[in-house]
Amino acid sequence: MSSTFLGMPVVAPRGVGQLRGDESFPKAARTALANEQLRRNLGHATRTIRAKRAAVVGEVPDWEQLRLAGEALKASTMARLPELLTQLEERVTERGGTVHWARDANEANRIVADLVKKAGADEVVKVKSMATQEIGLNEALEAEGIAAWETDLAELIVQLGHDKPSHILVPAIHRNRTEIRDIFLREMPSVPADLTDEPRQLAMAAREHLRRKFLSAKVAVSGANFAVAETGTLAVVESEGNGRMCLTLPRTLITVMGIEKVVPAWTDLEVFLQLLPRSSTGERMNPYTSLWTGVTPGDGPQEFHLVLLDNGRTAVLADEAGRSALHCIRCSACLNVCPVYERTGGHAYGSVYPGPIGAVLSPQLTGIKDNASLPYASSLCGACFDACPVRIDIPSMLVHLRARRVEEKKGPSPEAISMAAMSWVMSRPGRFRGAERLLGLGRLVSRRTRLLRGWTASRDLPRPPAQTFRDWWRNRT
Ligand code: SF4
Repeated sequence: MSSTFLGMPVVAPRGVGQLRGDESFPKAARTALANEQLRRNLGHATRTIRAKRAAVVGEVPDWEQLRLAGEALKASTMARLPELLTQLEERVTERGGTVHWARDANEANRIVADLVKKAGADEVVKVKSMATQEIGLNEALEAEGIAAWETDLAELIVQLGHDKPSHILVPAIHRNRTEIRDIFLREMPSVPADLTDEPRQLAMAAREHLRRKFLSAKVAVSGANFAVAETGTLAVVESEGNGRMCLTLPRTLITVMGIEKVVPAWTDLEVFLQLLPRSSTGERMNPYTSLWTGVTPGDGPQEFHLVLLDNGRTAVLADEAGRSALHCIRCSACLNVCPVYERTGGHAYGSVYPGPIGAVLSPQLTGIKDNASLPYASSLCGACFDACPVRIDIPSMLVHLRARRVEEKKGPSPEAISMAAMSWVMSRPGRFRGAERLLGLGRLVSRRTRLLRGWTASRDLPRPPAQTFRDWWRNRT
């Protein structure tokens, strides 16, 4: 901890989890672009989601006002985050829950593994959660001999396929139905050999597989879409009902939540529960909204733990121009409209947060030098801002992060050296005259030498004129 911000320690994460890949974005994108099947799957899926979203957003006459309300709520929440988190902790504790604070991925994983062991369990069922993906919880639990079963259908496909998620909302978006059937046939011992790729058949096979896990697991792990500070209530929204099974059946519930997910009041949910389903799945209302506050004797989990995760978030909050990346409600609308994401898919970004929001969030969470190519993974077309339900100005933030990267680079850049040389030359008339004389030599250089070949590979180098302005002026008067 090196400094404080808004009374909170600014924490640079030590164990950041799954926020960077092994390759830079351009390299990974080149590989992805060569995969035609991937591009077909992505093109089909993003076109479908975009059309659904546009239809339901068009039905809401005050959509822009809702967006403005969402933006304002998030900004005011960030301005008093320490106070709201303390209030949340008090309310959760009053209602029988336990709150843990985790500085980074390693700490969060340690806390969860210890809690699972304390509950006497060697397996957990999981609700789809970006926070647990971010910290690499499944891998950390596996290293401790604890099996983590994903119960969201798309996450299950990714897990059984020994794959990585490539979209925030639809982690298996890069797979088509035939590929999914093949994974189920290979990895689920109970499925019939004549399983087809018909969606209902695939869903029934997953249901059968998961039902046994729901009934036997003692511990569930979830994320949270929102946490209400004034009441201590946690909220998870989902489409399949698997989340509700996890949140109600096991005896112990552990929720891992990024600290930015807190909202001040119960009534704030009214805004976000309208913005989120329309922007994400293109639905008017999400089919399942689960809300819980601490524990209720005789009803649902009897032990509840809330792990509040920093993992670089306080460092993001300290940057005035970058902090609105924390306003994200993980709807994934910006991914579905992004021309870069649509062609490369999510794996090229290296982080569990792909697409436009990943390009601004991941480098800020890890430190820019560890994800230096991501702020350049954009055409700056602005489609992400138009789609974002909480009006995050991603294009401006990308430009800001590019500038930060240039400033952070060690040693003077070629641009900085040439600008310093120009400044030296232009600060004295005599030096400038000398430089003009050298321009004549430059004409020869530009014609005869190959020294500038790298620079001119993608740029035109204008040839210096035969006569300088001063010579022309002198001859004229
Ligand atoms: S940045 Fe906006 S559009 Fe993108 S996932 Fe977050 S809330 Fe959705």
